[in-house]
Amino acid sequence: MTNHMNRRAFIFRLSLPVSMASSMIISLSGCGGEVKDMSEKKSETTTDCEDLSGLSESERMARDSFGYEAQAALPERSCMHCKLFIPPGKASTCGGCLLFKGAVKPEGSCIQFAPKES
Ligand code: SF4
Repeated sequence: MTNHMNRRAFIFRLSLPVSMASSMIISLSGCGGEVKDMSEKKSETTTDCEDLSGLSESERMARDSFGYEAQAALPERSCMHCKLFIPPGKASTCGGCLLFKGAVKPEGSCIQFAPKES
């Protein structure tokens, strides 16, 4: 039973980032330039990049499934260089990510890093 549950959790954790990324890419391809509007809305109320108290358990699980880390191992693969990053608003140092809820540091990174096109 425990192995079955662990296998199920493992498969869920593997499939969630892929399915969410696919959904976001499909959504982004159809919405043009609305990313900026989302960033302003999301970043306005964020002051502590580590505070996850406003997230539900499922939102935290989704965030964890992407392997987000507050400090990228490789600076060139940090969120600030990712096209899915939502830049911080004027009153915050925290940004966001189009793939999951919660604050994201510009210096962070995850397994879904997608380099900005130059
Ligand atoms: S590196 Fe990951 S967490 Fe950071 S903006 Fe890109 S997809 Fe989001």
